[in-house]
Order: sequence, then structure tokens, then C-alpha cells
Amino acid sequence: MIICKSGQELAYMREAGRIVAGALVEVSKAVKPGVTTAELDRIAEEFILSKGAKPAFKGLYGFPATICASVNEQVVHGIPGLKKLANGDIISIDVGAEINGYFGDHAQTFAVGDIAPDVLKLIEVTRDALTKGINAARAGNRLSDISHAVQTYVEENGFSVVRDYVGHGIGTKMHEEPQVPNFGRPGRGPRLKPGMTLALEPMVNMGTYQVHTLTDNWTVVTGDAKPSAHFEHTIAITDGEPLIMTLV
Ligand code: MG
Repeated sequence: MIICKSGQELAYMREAGRIVAGALVEVSKAVKPGVTTAELDRIAEEFILSKGAKPAFKGLYGFPATICASVNEQVVHGIPGLKKLANGDIISIDVGAEINGYFGDHAQTFAVGDIAPDVLKLIEVTRDALTKGINAARAGNRLSDISHAVQTYVEENGFSVVRDYVGHGIGTKMHEEPQVPNFGRPGRGPRLKPGMTLALEPMVNMGTYQVHTLTDNWTVVTGDAKPSAHFEHTIAITDGEPLIMTLV
């Protein structure tokens, strides 16, 4: 069942969204060659706690940290650790928070120092694919219109969308119905209604869309070791423009 949220619920979700967006702003200031992903995790956790919120990923399905930190060919669910970022890396950081019982979920990919032009294009196309998806998230459209908009834009630009991981409903739980794939034919699935809240999150690979999980049972990597990017916003369907919750 897809739950439509009340105005008060949307206000709580906006608060959660503002906190995760603020956390990523703080983390982004520290992304540079030489920093460890554990240090970025600490910055995010301290920010979230300072706002009276809880890091939502920590403990979720057993995940051990506040952020997912996925470097280069890592797609999602990378565990922060003592490895230092190097010039030319990219890092996808995904962060969730809960306040007043409501959740926000947000991700961005950042360049570490100077990166290759094709990798910069991967980041830009992924970011813009999320915008295409958000623009399709309107009352009256069907769910897969979002999926189709994302896939079309990504593939027009010569990249591929990950199939094995998808966006999701969000609200009083981090993961609610429905699943929101980043691929598929338009005009399918439930009709979008005002008050539905979704986490849209294209994961875009430079090469094959195929992925696998490392032996840590968390880190998802591309099948061909080429880089991957990830952008995510929590949004609400309205009578008009979609509302992006995960902005400062
Ligand atoms: Mg998510």
C-alpha cells in the first residue's frame, strides 16, 4: 500500500530532508585527497546528532555506519573506513536521517580533486537523470513514467542504469512501497497522487549495468570495474511541481 502523507507529515519529512541535505553539505566540504571515508562518516553523524535527529542507516539491516561511502567502481553501500581518497577518485555518499518518526534519504556523487572528463560527464548525467525523474513525478502520471524518463536520458548519453537496486517510497520507514526502478516502459504501475513521498535514486554506470556484491556482503561494485555515480532526492508528489524535501 502506498501511503499519502498529510501536511503535517510532509512538514516532518521536510525537516528530515533539510537535515540530510545539511549533512551532505558539511561532508562535501571535507571531500578532498587524503581524507578517509571514516572521517566523512564522523562529520555526517555529528551533524545529524547536533540537529536532534538520528542517523537512519546505522543499524538498518545491520549496516554499521551513518553514510554509505562508495568510491569509483563501488555503486552503493560502501562501508566507511580508513582508506584515503585520492586525486581523481569519485565518491558517492548516501545519507539518511530520522526525526519525529519521519525519514529523509539523500545521495550525491562528488569529484575528489581533478577527475577525467568522461567521469565528470558520468556525474553530470546521473545528476540530470535524477532531475528528469523528478520532473516526471507528477500527479496523474504513472510510477514507471519516472523510471522511463531516467533510463531514456541515461542511455541517450551512452551510460547504463543499474537494475538490481531501485528507489523507494519513504515516510515513517526508510523503505516503504512502492519500489521505483530506474528503467522500464512508461505508463505502468500505480498512478501518482498528491502526498505520495518517494526516494528517487538513479545509479548510473559508465559501462555494463551489471553489478555484484563484495565479500563484506555490503559493497556493490560494477561488473566491469568502471565507475558508477548515484544521486538521490526524497520528493513529495503535489498538485503541481514535485516538492524536493532534501534541500537545505
Ligand atoms: Mg534510498
